Amino acid sequence: MRIGRSVDVLVVGAGPVGMMTALALAEKNHKIAIVDKSWRTSSQSYALALHPATVRFLRERGLVHEALRGAHPVTEVAIYHSMAARAGTVLPIGGGGGFPLLVLPQNEFESALEGELEKRGVRVRWNHRAAAISEDGKGVSVLVEELEKYTGGYSVATMEWVVSRARHVHAQYLVGADGHRSIVRRHLDADYREAGRSELFAVFEFESDRPADSAMSLVLTEETSNVLWPLGGHRWRWSFELQGEHDFAEEREKHRVSMHFGDECFPALDAGALTSFIAARAPWFDASVEQVHWSLAVRFERKLARPVGARRCWMVGDAVHLTGPAGVQSMNAGLAEALELSGAISEALRGRGTDALEGYARGTEAEWRRLLGLERRFRPGAVTPPWIRKNWDRILPALPGHREDLDRLAGALGYVDRPPDIGDQGGLDVDRHPLESR
Ligand SMILES: Cc1cc2nc3c(=O)[nH]c(=O)nc-3n(C[C@H](O)[C@H](O)[C@H](O)COP(=O)(O)OP(=O)(O)OC[C@H]3O[C@@H](n4cnc5c(N)ncnc54)[C@H](O)[C@@H]3O)c2cc1C
Repeated sequence: MRIGRSVDVLVVGAGPVGMMTALALAEKNHKIAIVDKSWRTSSQSYALALHPATVRFLRERGLVHEALRGAHPVTEVAIYHSMAARAGTVLPIGGGGGFPLLVLPQNEFESALEGELEKRGVRVRWNHRAAAISEDGKGVSVLVEELEKYTGGYSVATMEWVVSRARHVHAQYLVGADGHRSIVRRHLDADYREAGRSELFAVFEFESDRPADSAMSLVLTEETSNVLWPLGGHRWRWSFELQGEHDFAEEREKHRVSMHFGDECFPALDAGALTSFIAARAPWFDASVEQVHWSLAVRFERKLARPVGARRCWMVGDAVHLTGPAGVQSMNAGLAEALELSGAISEALRGRGTDALEGYARGTEAEWRRLLGLERRFRPGAVTPPWIRKNWDRILPALPGHREDLDRLAGALGYVDRPPDIGDQGGLDVDRHPLESR
């Protein structure tokens, strides 16, 4: 069965956010197609936790039930200051209605979402790349290329992907859930500037003799942020922020390895470095390291696109925003955006106007200006410890919450969200780029 020539909505990108968008549109009985240039879902755990608000809407809709049942609950955030042996503060995570935060590796979550789509008769078209986009007043025309493996080479066998077929798909609306190198964002000619400093992390996923507990730990040293996630069973993940220029060329030369995920390549790290990082930054973590499953260095940028959509083309997830990994904010906020955008497109398809689409654009931009700390909306209170105030810019992106979950976590530290007044200097000026307001 080939992809149809005409659909209500074409979703480009079958990461977690694209699949959630497609699922929400399929539930509203719209004719959709979803394409992805990769050959399958992601193969690693990457973003590993679902915020309570995400768990809530998945449970309320009866989605990915089995996957949630097997997920590992995390009930508190422990924040360590400098080299202290005990956490300086511990925050409860539980969301409104008592929904927990669940650790669920991204690859398992994606497989579960794909299964939900299949139940609704929607098949993800893997190996299908959106190559060109054009719009007219009635919709969007997308050139979709089907990719095929080609094995060749004379003395040494080589493999590459080649275009086996191409066709134009016409859609009334196009959703770009196509990640940080979005072709939809390029088509929209959206501004996509840095919204903060990028961070380089050394990430280690490993097995220990200690069973995974129920606390996520954030360890702040003078200059770095470091995060420990319990993954379930005896599995853990440490992410250590690297400072300055790290010599990966030397590292690669030494170990001759790098890790390929999709079409990206990351420097692999020496597994032995894990124990040195623990000794230097979190000596209180005295569990053994039995086996390192994978370790790599990955840079996380902070970026925000504007506008998030126009006319018949709209974006969600990492196509719109990037942030640090600690609080798993990009994927979780992206999943909430998927629900809102699919609802807004559905309204427009039913002839009820585009107000909801405009509301989606305003809401998404406002939430990301808040998450990226571009507006200083959170104000500390009398109970906020001085060391939390001093490190707030690093704590905010590491809190595992967005929207109400974030309000609750910040509130437990004495912070209140003070929405900007019209004309307030720190207020939302929809005509300015994030960095211009600084
Ligand atoms: C190595 C690594 C480690 C990470 N660790 C963390 C972490 O610890 N915590 C955290 O919160 N986040 C982490 N992330 C980020 C997290 O994976 C993303 O926030 C999340 O996947 C965003 O989901 P998305 O659906 O918006 O985009 P993506 O998951 O990026 O999905 C986009 C999809 O679009 C497809 N695509 C792109 N262009 C086209 C095209 N032209 N045509 C068709 N398909 C296209 C891609 O193949 C991809 O499948 C990590 C990412 C990486 C790569």
